[in-house]
Amino acid sequence: MFYSSSPLAGLIPLLIWMFLFCWPAAYIAGQKGRDMVPWFCAGLLFGPMATLMVGLSPALPKNTAPANDADSWLAANPDSQFPARLAQTHEAARQALRKRFCPDCGAPLAEDDLFCGGCGRKAN
Ligand SMILES: [Zn+2]
Repeated sequence: MFYSSSPLAGLIPLLIWMFLFCWPAAYIAGQKGRDMVPWFCAGLLFGPMATLMVGLSPALPKNTAPANDADSWLAANPDSQFPARLAQTHEAARQALRKRFCPDCGAPLAEDDLFCGGCGRKAN
C-alpha cells in the first residue's frame, strides 16, 4: 500500500538518500571552500563515501588578498621593473608610429627622405 498510495512515493527513498548524504556532503564542501554542486552529485552517486571523503579533505585556503588590479599588484611588488618596461614599450610604440614607410616596397623612410632608398619612389 505504501508504494501504490502516490506516484511520487517512489521518490521518498531518493529524498532520504539526498537528505542523509547529498546535503551534508555539499554543506561540508561549502564550509571548506569547495564547489558544492560536484559534492552534491558525489553524494548522489557514492552516498556516505562522498560525505566521508569531503569530510576528511583539507579546507582550501581562503582567497584573502585578491591582487587583481594593477595598483595593488604594484604596491605588493615594489622591486618590479614593470613600470619602467612599460614606459620603454610605450616609447618604442610611439617611435614606430612616427616612422614612415614606402607604400611601394615597405622600406622605412627617414624623416627628411625625399625618395625611397629601396625603390626610388618619391616619398610624400
Ligand atoms: Zn620604396
